[in-house]
Amino acid sequence: MDLAARLIRWQQRHGRHDLPWQNTRDAYRIWLSEIMLQQTQVATVIPYFQRFIERFPDVFALAAASQHEVMALWSGLGYYSRARNLHRCAQQIVTDYHGIFPSDPALLASLPGIGRSTSAAIAVFSAGARAAILDGNVKRVLCRAFGIDGYPGEKTIETALWQRAETLLPKKNIEAYTQGLMDLGATVCTRSKPDCPACPLAAQCIALATGRVAELPQRKPRKETPEKQVTMLLVLDNHQVLLLRRPEYGIWGGLWSLPEMETDDPAAVEQMATAFGQVASCQPLPSFSHAFTHFRLRISPWLLRLERRATLATQQEMVWHDLARLDDAPLPAPVRKLLQEFKPDRGAAPAPARAR
Ligand code: SF4
Repeated sequence: MDLAARLIRWQQRHGRHDLPWQNTRDAYRIWLSEIMLQQTQVATVIPYFQRFIERFPDVFALAAASQHEVMALWSGLGYYSRARNLHRCAQQIVTDYHGIFPSDPALLASLPGIGRSTSAAIAVFSAGARAAILDGNVKRVLCRAFGIDGYPGEKTIETALWQRAETLLPKKNIEAYTQGLMDLGATVCTRSKPDCPACPLAAQCIALATGRVAELPQRKPRKETPEKQVTMLLVLDNHQVLLLRRPEYGIWGGLWSLPEMETDDPAAVEQMATAFGQVASCQPLPSFSHAFTHFRLRISPWLLRLERRATLATQQEMVWHDLARLDDAPLPAPVRKLLQEFKPDRGAAPAPARAR
């Protein structure tokens, strides 16, 4: 029995069949799930997916929403360029395709936020197209099953993996095969503790036969993760906090966050504090790190309590936002976590006041 046949039979018996985006040909739901699942595990995605579907039941509703609302609903899921592309893609589907997703993987791959593997997954599950996927999990399975050396992110290795993935495609049951690859990578052939005795590919797996499961796929050649530092000013006026809208591009693009300074020199922070108004107190809070894909950000927060706020002049859009209504704001996860500690326990708060 070839690899595809083994995988299909295993998926039908042991794979996942009841995820909220399965058992449908609705390309909107399938597309939404595939975008959310990029770099993110199923268990994390499920509640976000359900909230999105409840608020935006179809592509027209999503296209008509404000970017602010889309970002707020995405807040906490990370990789925020996905949310901006999701919104742009929905608008393009409505204007260019009358709200109907194309079934051709090449056309899908031309839309914002949809790469080659994601376009294939959408086309497979929504239209039964015969197309190959190759996400991180699938790369791991193929590297192990075929004993492929080299870092899979390297161009030549990736090209070889795409060729392998294309060659393996079965003539029928493409949905079960594709889902099987996803399920196997997520639940059996996992990165650190693969369950080889339960694997349908064990009899033909080269990594298993040669004792190389732990070393495949080969890791990215190691580079020291750089660390950047930023001082964040948590400026409080009673139960309101000052938030600035971040530029569209760059980290946390389009989200709302705290005013920042590059230095954490106390004299510089105290001097800066006076720009926000009459300061009642100004004190450092414990610093902490947040990991991004390519660097770590060391965040040194300072708490500034104001007696009276000043009229601020800044290039950035800003709001005084009620701490009681943090859930409404599209905040980066570490900023949300930091602000949670200052949330008032009781009392309904008034609507946020837009400062400019
Ligand atoms: S036998 Fe083990 S290493 Fe090989 S594909 Fe299966 S789970 Fe992965």
